[in-house]
Amino acid sequence: MIVIDESGRMQRMAEQWRIKNETIGFVPTMGYLHEGHLELMRQGKKDCRHLVVSIFVNPKQFGEGEDFGTYPRDFDRDSRLVEEVGAEVVFYPTISQLYPPDFQTYVEVTEVTKGLCGASRPVFFRGVATVVTKLFNLVKPHFAYFGEKDYQQLITIKRMVADLDMDLEVIGCPTVREKDGLAMSSRNVYLSVEGRKAALCLYRALCSVQKAAAGGETDAEKLINAAREIINKEPPARIDYIKLCHPSTLKELDHLEQEGRLIMAVWVENTRLIDNGRILLGDR
Ligand code: AMP
Repeated sequence: MIVIDESGRMQRMAEQWRIKNETIGFVPTMGYLHEGHLELMRQGKKDCRHLVVSIFVNPKQFGEGEDFGTYPRDFDRDSRLVEEVGAEVVFYPTISQLYPPDFQTYVEVTEVTKGLCGASRPVFFRGVATVVTKLFNLVKPHFAYFGEKDYQQLITIKRMVADLDMDLEVIGCPTVREKDGLAMSSRNVYLSVEGRKAALCLYRALCSVQKAAAGGETDAEKLINAAREIINKEPPARIDYIKLCHPSTLKELDHLEQEGRLIMAVWVENTRLIDNGRILLGDR
């Protein structure tokens, strides 16, 4: 496995592969890797001749007062894990490689980024879309792997790739959870023992909505209230939002027709956790 920290070198290597018609798989990450990341890599490894993993904590997607400075980082451990999965390249650029001082071009996906996390994190999706575009131009993947854990991000990237005629396929992969159901996240390390226990309420809320819908409940307000009730019972947890959305447009639903996506962000202590899941209507 090789570590590349220079954009030009990454792009030249990808171009050589493209010339030979060899497939390139790509997993962009911010590092501090866990099983969720590793599953994306395993999928990429299965599908493609070459697998590139990027590790870059992207300053452009963090707002004022967010955790850019304290975001967990451990490059040595990460590169060991990437090597174990069998990726060929870790792309590990510096901030100045990707954003030289005269940088001034941004990619904006306007609609699917409006609500949900876009409402509470105004610069987030512009930062994500911009860095992912740059990484796509450098790594030239045929397939790029993103987790459903960050559902709005997955939909945003799919929209961007379609709208801008980018020549690659975006593959969404299921959320990987801890044994007790908590969605894996690099930010889970911020939680205290008590916070970690309380954080389970997101998964419990999701399951209760899935159960209510399977039992035939169609009213979005009632479904969302079932989730709220569970989360409000945990004192360290404060709801940022819980919404029932259309699975591809992310428009809020008043009632469930066949399938929806329950999407939520919840503060637990000082950590903002997100989770989501498919909600299917069953027979009453
Ligand atoms: P991050 O390093 O948090 O930016 O995440 C990099 C990629 O890993 C994104 O596509 C995430 O959606 C994905 N990811 C993060 N956590 C999980 C998880 N628990 N299950 C599946 N994918 C995940």
